[in-house]
Amino acid sequence: MRPEILFPLFSSVSTLKGVGPRVAPLVEKLAGPIVRDVLFTAPTGLIRRSVTTVDQAVEGQVQTFVVTIDAHQPPHRLGHPWKIRAWDGTGFLTLIWFKGHGPHLERQHPKGARRAVSGKVERPEGFASELQIAHPDYIVAEDRAADIPEVETVYPATAGLPSRTFRKFALEALERAPELPEWQDSAWRERERLPGWREALAALHAPASEADLSPLARPRRRLAYDELLAHQLALAQRKASRRAHPGPLIPAGSLSEAAEKALPFKLTGAQIRSLSEIRGDLLSGERMSRLLQGDVGSGKTVVAMLAMADAAGAGLQSALMAPTEILARQHFETIAAPLEALGLSVILLTGRDKGAGRTAKLAGLADGTHHIAVGTHALFQDDVVFKALALTIIDEQHRFGVNERRRLQDKGPPDVDWGVHLLAMSATPIPRTLELTVFGDLDVSRIDEKPPGRTPVATRAAPTPRVPEIVERLRAAIASGAQAFWICPLVSESDKVDLRAAEDRAADLARHLPGVGLVHGQMPPAEKDAVMQRFVDGEVSVLVATTVVEVGVNVPNASIMVIEHADRFGLAQLHQLRGRVGRGTRESSCVLLYDPPLSEVAQKRLDILRRSDDGFEIAEKDLELRGGGDPLGLKQSGFPAYRLADPVAHRDLIAVAADDARLILARDPELASPRGQALRMLQELFDWKPASSLNEAG
Ligand code: ADP
Ligand code: MG
Repeated sequence: MRPEILFPLFSSVSTLKGVGPRVAPLVEKLAGPIVRDVLFTAPTGLIRRSVTTVDQAVEGQVQTFVVTIDAHQPPHRLGHPWKIRAWDGTGFLTLIWFKGHGPHLERQHPKGARRAVSGKVERPEGFASELQIAHPDYIVAEDRAADIPEVETVYPATAGLPSRTFRKFALEALERAPELPEWQDSAWRERERLPGWREALAALHAPASEADLSPLARPRRRLAYDELLAHQLALAQRKASRRAHPGPLIPAGSLSEAAEKALPFKLTGAQIRSLSEIRGDLLSGERMSRLLQGDVGSGKTVVAMLAMADAAGAGLQSALMAPTEILARQHFETIAAPLEALGLSVILLTGRDKGAGRTAKLAGLADGTHHIAVGTHALFQDDVVFKALALTIIDEQHRFGVNERRRLQDKGPPDVDWGVHLLAMSATPIPRTLELTVFGDLDVSRIDEKPPGRTPVATRAAPTPRVPEIVERLRAAIASGAQAFWICPLVSESDKVDLRAAEDRAADLARHLPGVGLVHGQMPPAEKDAVMQRFVDGEVSVLVATTVVEVGVNVPNASIMVIEHADRFGLAQLHQLRGRVGRGTRESSCVLLYDPPLSEVAQKRLDILRRSDDGFEIAEKDLELRGGGDPLGLKQSGFPAYRLADPVAHRDLIAVAADDARLILARDPELASPRGQALRMLQELFDWKPASSLNEAG
């Protein structure tokens, strides 16, 4: 239940003075539907107005002049502006209005009147000596010159809602913000010299200098910490409530030991460590919620397979779910033979299974004949029933929605008092510093070591005009048996222009090279799978693709990766794409094509990729270089959208907030103390209630 003291902040923006039916949608677009959203919209800049004279005016600056109205110059023709010529004793200044203010202006500012006028000073070309201000921000009587502020806060604006109007709303929202009981640790707050909650909000909306606008300004840091704390608390609460559920006991057994012995390779140190962390969970009596993170090709599937063998050894079933059919099939092919050799029954269940075949598979899952099911979304259909599902493994977990994950979790046996263990797998490298914000409610194991014997992928950047040369080299490589990916980015899967570009590229390559195939997101899944399969089988030698191959497919013979418009991709994505090659014994290469000229930042980003082959390191460096936008593809990986916290600028606060959240909950698990209650208000304010947290795994 929302405390009454917060009601004013949770009322609609239309309750703010001046927000009528026309303006409300614009405020909503800029900030959000309620007063709280306006309150949490930070200013983006400052305008400083110096008072000056025409002979001292500086073009491009926002300045204030005291002038005498000299003449009105009505437009000669329709569509021309209304002009006022003004004089300040040192020179002339032209004030310009483009839209029908004419007669009104003449009445308000008659010839001879003294006015203070302020706005951006310009000197249009061709009028060497004439300074002008188009649409002055202020024009007031001389004796009211003091009303023109010297420093003005700039807010996001949109057509029909100028910054100055939004500012009024923000100040009114501020008036409605109540003083709340302090939730921050007072010793820490004093040490960091952070202001109180309401004081911080007031300072946020009243910057006096550029430094005050920085995310590093103290008031902003205080609010960022508050937001991060609210989120970390929610994550910690979820984790705690999940822990409270018992999970089935699964000891490491002889089956997985035999499976491991039968592997044609030794597990890496990182695989061994991850596996023992998973085994610790499976034996803990609590339900596991663990994320297994590792670059593409780091060997996550093998670890998953051994955990499933443990479950089978305990007489329990497992399910491994992948986002696409081809990935599910590859997982099946990897794990079926070794496990079947040990006498286990493994099935593949996808949308392709129909009729009697499907019925037989379902019957085997329901009566426990099959120990392990590998599949796609088909696994959580209502009529799929397991006899004793105890472990679900989800590959590329961010590709599934919360509900999808939960539906699989819900397939545990109804007559037991434990819940199904969850192991999520992800190849999206999240920088270590940000891990807590994305996966704060999961335990994380990292495979940060590659299996030995991989040849690094020689990576270089090339301008697009050099495509013919690259095609020539491709021809030679194909003649010697190599295969290649050629990636064309799609901004969105429905983007017709980019899709055409991919089709054109495929047609163009087909004129020069044998065995060119095309896959893209708009193809029917069966057709897409058929082309992919022909690539896996070696019939297609160059696979032109939009980003569909990004995730997981394993084609060891593919050794060349060409990526068009590489500057359009996030580094993490490029790294994942590159991970598709370099899996076999062939020397592998990756060509990053770009349209020249390359910006300095783009150049730096491509350099990072050329120098490093460690996904975590690449993600961390990319984060440091981050301009705007979402170059890490973080949104796709479930990254939270913060209002005032900046995960990069405030990354030192993330760990502090996570530690504090843990301590707070250890002392006051129900948040029942006075401070706990204040914290619940904070969670309400930032929409981070325990149930709304991301990565909810059931
Ligand atoms: P991921 O799922 O992390 O992308 P996979 O589990 O598919 O990686 O492994 C990629 C390839 O590496 C597979 O062919 C697998 O057999 C092989 N592999 C896995 N672990 C090792 C290891 N320790 N030593 C050598 N090869 C390994
Ligand atoms: Mg994989």
